[in-house]
Amino acid sequence: MHELTLLFGVADQVERVTRENGIDHVDAVVLEVGELTPIVPEFLIDGYEVISDEYDFLRGSKLIVDRITGMVKCRRCGREYPVVEYEGYCPDCGSYDKDILSGDQFVIKEVRILEEPEDAGSDQNESEPVESDTEEQKGSETSPEA
Ligand SMILES: [Zn+2]
Repeated sequence: MHELTLLFGVADQVERVTRENGIDHVDAVVLEVGELTPIVPEFLIDGYEVISDEYDFLRGSKLIVDRITGMVKCRRCGREYPVVEYEGYCPDCGSYDKDILSGDQFVIKEVRILEEPEDAGSDQNESEPVESDTEEQKGSETSPEA
């Protein structure tokens, strides 16, 4: 399975990043996968579940695949068009002759690390059960002193 080989390469690169930055664990890896590559994103995501379990720094993290549209430029008229949508033929002049602009890449775009917000007052924390707590407190008259 070609995708697994790619994922082991990704794991190696991420490991290097974590070592260089003194990071123990990552939360997500974002890959840019061009649609002109033969790579199947679903296979990547399935394979990642297996592979991430073999590395301490990847365990429990998730893979996000950013699909990049294959864009080409017509060599005859210069028109830029999404090549998959037009099945390889220029919508303006009908030429098949073209240069690839994007969509043939496979790169690690981002390695995400969720850091504990020490002093930042950002509201990025999604787990704040404050509202449901107050609702429960309405019904039960428990004193906070114990
Ligand atoms: Zn053209």
